[in-house]
Amino acid sequence: MIEKTITSLVEACDPKAAAILQNEDERQTAVLRMIPSENYASPAVRAALASTLSNKYGEGYAGRRYYQGQKNTDAIELLAIERACRLFGYPHANVQALSGAPANLGVYTAFLKPFEGRIMAMRLDHGGHLTHGSPVSVTGQWFEIMHYGCNENDVLDYDEIRRMAIEFKPNVLVCGYTAYPRTIDFAAFGAIAREVGAISLADVSHIAGLIAGGAHPSPFPHIDVVTFTTHKTLRGPRGAIILSQKPEHAEAIDKAVFPGLQGGPHFATIASLAVALHEAESDGFRSYSAQVVKNAQALAAHLMEKGYHVSSGGTDNHLLLVDVRKSASLPGKRVAELLEDVGIVLNFNTVPNASDRQKPLFPDGIRMGTPCLTTRGMKENHMAAVADFIHLAISNMKTGKIEKDDNPWKDPAVTGKLAADIRAFALSFPTFTW
Ligand SMILES: *Cc1c(COP(=O)(O)O)cnc(C)c1O
Repeated sequence: MIEKTITSLVEACDPKAAAILQNEDERQTAVLRMIPSENYASPAVRAALASTLSNKYGEGYAGRRYYQGQKNTDAIELLAIERACRLFGYPHANVQALSGAPANLGVYTAFLKPFEGRIMAMRLDHGGHLTHGSPVSVTGQWFEIMHYGCNENDVLDYDEIRRMAIEFKPNVLVCGYTAYPRTIDFAAFGAIAREVGAISLADVSHIAGLIAGGAHPSPFPHIDVVTFTTHKTLRGPRGAIILSQKPEHAEAIDKAVFPGLQGGPHFATIASLAVALHEAESDGFRSYSAQVVKNAQALAAHLMEKGYHVSSGGTDNHLLLVDVRKSASLPGKRVAELLEDVGIVLNFNTVPNASDRQKPLFPDGIRMGTPCLTTRGMKENHMAAVADFIHLAISNMKTGKIEKDDNPWKDPAVTGKLAADIRAFALSFPTFTW
């Protein structure tokens, strides 16, 4: 409904742009969206995003603005903050960071001096994020970085992380990842950070919705500062929240976000965020997050049964990593491209303990998740069908030099039927079910 309203309003003014929006609506309905960092936001969340608050400027924080006319902007920002604090149990929340990367930069610049500050975080190819000190990100260029990784079982080794932290003495110790399928022991990270005098930061972008819904343990009270994007499992608009415990941390973070890094906040996003947080406080959202995990576990079990190498042997959260080179002698990127051709959209991704051929743009793995499928109403029993689709497609891919092969499928007839079956399966589920 909201899709039709939006497209027709745009179409009356700009048919060219409207056609693109229409195509994207159709794509999101007709494919199996399995990128674990994506979701379908509710019509209410999306409507707030299109509200008149988008027209309003208001640099500063509620009660301390640099513009007049702030009655409603103050009210909406305070509402979002109140809900974020209640839901995650932290006393302070900043809801202005424009997205996950600026939120992390806000935290680093709040606490660290450039070219002196030390950050310890997970390496990119084991599931860390670019903003956790990658050399191509300013976070890796402005600060001194030490990276930890997973052990030979693809999981975190807390004794080793502690040993490294004692040696490196970071100012900020980061946990929270973009491609890690296991539960994070926040108590262990908090204890290590306190032992070495570091601020602990949990970047829970991926699992914020699971934490809100009780499907992953909370970082509170173990972790000092928590950042997350709001558009992944939390199912809100594209944005970010920064939580903190100590008033002096909150003050430094607020200053770093504005005026340190940003100008005026995006109030329509903040309104949409308030709505998403309200939804996340509901019983429906608790069962949603529990179902996301059950679905991911069912999918992992089905794939392992078919002989796939699932990193760490399964998942505790919403995502799983499959080493397709070990499983099927295929490179991750090509598998992701070919799966998209039949209507399964996921990521190519690095996996820990991969072959020595693995590079970030030529990884050995694929990453998939269940947040979108679960929003569409799928349950464990549907994961068998999804695993079958993935397996049929991969078994029908040629191995060898398929990166350059124009006809990478063993049997194009099988591919055609598979694409039609996947489309029909996807179309049998609405995009948003509650
Ligand atoms: C997605 C993600 C981010 C970045 O968010 P953007 O909104 O793309 O800037 C940061 N950290 C982690 C762990 C993420 O998964």
